[in-house]
Amino acid sequence: MANIKLTLVVACALIDADKRVLIAQRPQGKSLAGLWEFPGGKLEPGERPEATLIRELHEEIGIVVNEACLAPLTFASHTYDDFHLLMPLYICRRWEGEVAAREGQKLAWVRANKLRDYKMPPADIPLIPHLIDLLM
Ligand code: C5P
Repeated sequence: MANIKLTLVVACALIDADKRVLIAQRPQGKSLAGLWEFPGGKLEPGERPEATLIRELHEEIGIVVNEACLAPLTFASHTYDDFHLLMPLYICRRWEGEVAAREGQKLAWVRANKLRDYKMPPADIPLIPHLIDLLM
């Protein structure tokens, strides 16, 4: 436990005009394949979380996000078997371009009170009430 690795991931809840949230299904071949998550990814060394999100949202779903449109909401902290995950969750209501699955992943726009119908990684589940409070 003393030497457990810390992994930094940043995630974003994109929110559309109907107050629905975008989630993406982790593809086969990745850890936790088939589970649904808020889009995002791992911080590269020296990278700020906002820069990670701008990069990942462009790579994964083809949108362009301005940093001014990213607002921190809360963060997840979860210990898996072999690493500890710290994952800030941002929200974003404005972006440029059409949301599209650039990496073949399934996407879904979901109301906050329906997010529990989608199986998510254990780190992501405690984020759901924060989105319900914000959006319902
Ligand atoms: O997405 P990536 O595989 O780089 O994330 C590293 C690890 O962080 C995953 O193996 C998963 O255990 C965890 N993770 C998570 N919830 C997310 C994204 C990643 O628990 N939304």
